Amino acid sequence: MPSNDVLPGKTLSIPQWRLDLNEQLPGVIFQLHRTPDGHLHFPYLAGSGAGLDGLDRRDLAHNAQPALDRLAEPDHPRLMAIIERSARSDTPIATTFRLRLTDKRMRWIAVRAQPRRVESGTLWVGLMIDITEQMIEEDRLRRLSDTDDLTGLANRRKLMTRLEEEISLSNRHGLPLSLMMLDLDHFKSINDTWGHLQGDQVLRELANLCQGILREEDLMARLGGEEFAVLLPLTPESHSYQLAERLRERISAHNFGVGQGHITVSIGITAHRVGDSREILMQRVDERLYAAKHGGRNRVMAGA
Ligand code: GH3
Ligand code: MG
Ligand code: MG
Repeated sequence: MPSNDVLPGKTLSIPQWRLDLNEQLPGVIFQLHRTPDGHLHFPYLAGSGAGLDGLDRRDLAHNAQPALDRLAEPDHPRLMAIIERSARSDTPIATTFRLRLTDKRMRWIAVRAQPRRVESGTLWVGLMIDITEQMIEEDRLRRLSDTDDLTGLANRRKLMTRLEEEISLSNRHGLPLSLMMLDLDHFKSINDTWGHLQGDQVLRELANLCQGILREEDLMARLGGEEFAVLLPLTPESHSYQLAERLRERISAHNFGVGQGHITVSIGITAHRVGDSREILMQRVDERLYAAKHGGRNRVMAGA
């Protein structure tokens, strides 16, 4: 066992210059000790950063609880399970968690720690770094890659991801799920008459109008061009049909600034059947949309 473990009853043999250096680190280095009965404490803690905000290191040397109490609600049981697993299987801890600061703000912390069996239990040596800015940036980039530039709606990529998730829920629990596909009628002639910029404005306004009618849990996406899809979780086909009719009527009655009644949509809808894949569902809803176009446009076509 290295001589500089700071276990209870041991004296610290780290030279002063290294202790000073440790304190200046833009993160926290630590030893975490777990007794065989599961008691956790930090015999050694050094550095700076959010991890130690408002916490007394002398308290933490005897009991890690005040720090663990700062964990965000869902992260607490998860982190405890990770610690237990690491102790049992001698595998390193490598995870992220959210910590509540004294002013209630949340910070994201990344932790890496290596466990080692010692006479008095398990001892980890590790480090914690505040990664909040990085997480915010990742979130911004994720949003960007999921968003349609013109309308601010979800894009096809995002729809496909959500569709996969909702289909899996539907298959597992037999929950109703509907999908709607919506395409503007004769939009080429709108562009030809009013110009492409005005056409873009129609697409933006249509997205807003529909979002105002849909529920929070519904996902409207622009698939491309003048074609949209709406994913309707927990919605049987009869309900989605009523909703599609309402959207169709509201759109045809809305003044988009390109001549009253000139903007109409055709809508196809279908319901998920247990065992349907994403591709089958997309293909079926596309066929319904095609049928609505062939049926004369400005109409809704349903069918499972
Ligand atoms: P249909 O009723 O059969 O759907 O006729 P349509 O004219 O809407 O369909 P078509 O597929 O022939 O043409 C789609 C038009 O949508 C072509 C293009 O001018 C227009 N469009 C596609 N994407 C955009 C866009 O981002 N902005 C604008 N302003 N127009 C677009
Ligand atoms: Mg069209
Ligand atoms: Mg189209």
